[in-house]
Amino acid sequence: MRSLMETIIEWVEGNRGECIKFLQEVISIPSPSFEEKREAKFLAEKMREYGFDESYVDEKHDALGAIIGSGGGRSLLLNGHIDHVPVGAMVDPYSGRLMDGAEFGVEGQVVYGRAACDMKAAVAAMVLAGRALKELGVRLEGDYRVAAVAQEEVGGAGTVSTIVDSQFLGDVVLIGEATNMELALGHRGSMKFGVVVKGRSCHASAPERGVNALYKAINMIQRIRDDLALRLPSHPIYGRASLVVTQIEVSPKASNVVPESCRFWMDCRNHPGFTAEDLYDELNEIVAEISAGDPEFEATVIPTTLIAGRTFSGFYTDPDRHPVVEEAAYAVSEITRKPKHSLWTFATDGRMYSRLGLPVIGFGPGEERFAHTQQDHVKVRDFLDTIKVYAWLACRICGVCEN
Ligand SMILES: [Zn+2]
Repeated sequence: MRSLMETIIEWVEGNRGECIKFLQEVISIPSPSFEEKREAKFLAEKMREYGFDESYVDEKHDALGAIIGSGGGRSLLLNGHIDHVPVGAMVDPYSGRLMDGAEFGVEGQVVYGRAACDMKAAVAAMVLAGRALKELGVRLEGDYRVAAVAQEEVGGAGTVSTIVDSQFLGDVVLIGEATNMELALGHRGSMKFGVVVKGRSCHASAPERGVNALYKAINMIQRIRDDLALRLPSHPIYGRASLVVTQIEVSPKASNVVPESCRFWMDCRNHPGFTAEDLYDELNEIVAEISAGDPEFEATVIPTTLIAGRTFSGFYTDPDRHPVVEEAAYAVSEITRKPKHSLWTFATDGRMYSRLGLPVIGFGPGEERFAHTQQDHVKVRDFLDTIKVYAWLACRICGVCEN
């Protein structure tokens, strides 16, 4: 096995230029959410070309590929999304330019471009690791499966389709979202809540005749910012919950009318100690308190999903219950260094697999702090090491036929 690991490392280093070129090609294809078709087709074709036994694009434009094992081993499913957030004001977002990382305050060469970090470098590494296994003639016992999915940034319909429609699953799931080469075991849940504040419109030239719903909403937003958001409970595994107001709109939308209604939205990252029910109650308490001192204040709290009580949309793969966590950490340490156990700050599609009872581990190149920014990039070193890690993890987890 030791020498197999060395041949994987040699393959990646020997094909360094081609690996980087492949990542640049993946970045060069624009694939904002709902426009993933071209990227999915490209990846499925490449998987076929590289010797995957199966590869196809489904209706949601997820690219699915598999190297079928000889049987008996655990299958490893690697999931990465191919959609990305808008490019905004990024310069040459699809260039995949190779450059010195100093510009972003990091050491060594980097590949720059939209989704380099979140998360085309990981997706490219998943495909290239499969290519390495095939070219080296490694025969796995379990299957090596790659789900390069669409629509992750807009709710996760791509992954849902691969699970529900294609039943494309594995015994162990790896999510390649950026972990900066550490091992991520989960993340907090995510909830979207809204509040509608009622007022009474009037001509803006005589605001005293109406009740300004925007001004009323500001009272409540200040309470959320200066009080509620600061005293959210902590959890021993997930850390602190967070809450922030992210959007606001008024009706009617006219500069010369005092608005009769104002709606604002919040993003809450929570844990099992602070559920949707808890947030709903806290917000209603604020409404009651403001109303007590202001008879004109009228507001309704609206959870975007019906209150789901104690259900929690985050996840955590407990190393005490899933020995594969330590197996994976060991495999990573053989290639790079011993990874720390961590949690993602953001949410991932890993939650969907975790809900099925599957062990979900996270490992990917790139740093979370560069995701969705104009400095989107990945370190070349980490990208190449990730190819090795994925291929080596496959050997460790799926098992290798000795003859
Ligand atoms: Zn992502």
